[in-house]
Amino acid sequence: MSLTKVVRDIRSRQKVKFNPPDKPTAVWTGKDLLDGKPISTLTVIFQTSGCRWNNCTMCGYVYDSARKPPSHDELMKQFESAMSRCKDEEFIVKIFTSGSFLDDGEIGAETRKEMLSRLGADNRVKKVIAETRPEYVTHEKLSEAISALGKRFEVAIGLETSNDMIRKDCINKGFSFSDFVRASEVAGQEGVTVKAYLLLKPVFISEGVAISDMIKSINDAVPYAGTISINLCNVQKGTLVEEMFERGDYRPPWLWSAVEVLKSGKELAPNTVIMSDPVGAGSARGPHNSDKCDTAVAEAIRMFSLTQDAGIFDKLDCECRELWKKVVELEELTFGAPIVR
Ligand code: SF4
Ligand SMILES: [Zn+2]
Repeated sequence: MSLTKVVRDIRSRQKVKFNPPDKPTAVWTGKDLLDGKPISTLTVIFQTSGCRWNNCTMCGYVYDSARKPPSHDELMKQFESAMSRCKDEEFIVKIFTSGSFLDDGEIGAETRKEMLSRLGADNRVKKVIAETRPEYVTHEKLSEAISALGKRFEVAIGLETSNDMIRKDCINKGFSFSDFVRASEVAGQEGVTVKAYLLLKPVFISEGVAISDMIKSINDAVPYAGTISINLCNVQKGTLVEEMFERGDYRPPWLWSAVEVLKSGKELAPNTVIMSDPVGAGSARGPHNSDKCDTAVAEAIRMFSLTQDAGIFDKLDCECRELWKKVVELEELTFGAPIVR
């Protein structure tokens, strides 16, 4: 049975939540780096018809998408509701759609143009980052976006790994490293910067392989991305990751593994911004260590992301670090089956 069929079967058993079509799925404020300095961010997840691909093993965003495609007016109301949330004098706007902002099937060309023009006219907005799959990154789409926005624009692409086999057989992502490279080159020619998301520990690989996959992926992605963000896999509802987690066949990554990846990545690529937001850290369904150090390690990861100073990690220690080292060693013998929850 193909991985796509397995994911589709799981999807068919889930319910799509109802959200009013004129409200975004989620909006929150946070911090990011702009030219080496921390700046506020406003992150918006627009409620659209959802990702056209919709087949990745770890992704539960589909259940947040709209039951019927929202109209232009509904999407603009979502936009206005989101923009009213940030009171800072300057900030970056991050646009997610639980899919691709540049896909006309999710956000029509006119709607996208109007949103970007309004962001362009808002002097508080210093930069806009929009998430998209690489197939929607074209010269035409980017030049339209840039002329509407008239300020710094970045595309964020969920590359997940530079290893085509892991991306296909563990994530079922549906594109190749060369598709990402092409998108990055098109972006570069249009003056658009690129952020790559990588995924630490998809299903079917051991903790140790997951760590080395991330370090190699950072090395491979550096020429094509100014910022690399490491997503620490968490267990989302209605996914293959969740099915395996419930059977005891999957454990989210250790926070120590994330520390290792960030430290080694920064050493390999000192001029690239390398970051991670440890979403759900410390819970069984999120990245976690084995006991009391989760809060401190997650905080160090957040601090590193804002300062790029890997020295922050030198202050961390806990007795579970030795256990983690053993897990990394022994999981090679269990072919990735978890030995510690
Ligand atoms: S491409 Fe992105 S939004 Fe679409 S299924 Fe995969 S992870 Fe989810
Ligand atoms: Zn610990």
